[in-house]
Amino acid sequence: MNDESKFMCLCCGREGLPIQRKKGKLKKPFHLKKLFCIHCGIDVNHVECRNNDNVTEFLHQWANGELNEQIQTSLEYLYGTAQWVAMRDDIIKRQEEILKSLTLKSIDEIE
Ligand SMILES: [Zn+2]
Repeated sequence: MNDESKFMCLCCGREGLPIQRKKGKLKKPFHLKKLFCIHCGIDVNHVECRNNDNVTEFLHQWANGELNEQIQTSLEYLYGTAQWVAMRDDIIKRQEEILKSLTLKSIDEIE
């Protein structure tokens, strides 16, 4: 059995470093865990995904802006800094990109 969860960065929507959990210590999917994101370069909450369906669901929610409140809460300590402004712009851009790729994917699936 594969106990490896994927941790998706709440800030950039990218996959973080994998973490091995001991058997029996698995958390529910979408559990939040603060980890260092190698892409963002900061400690930020990651969403635990147990399988690819979880990842797709996370990306949908993330790109649709459903998690914006959680993103903001996670990054509250950066408010007012230049880093926050840059990250916010980056988040908006990435949300648009992911939304576009998810839309294209669902059209492909229909055909
Ligand atoms: Zn990140």
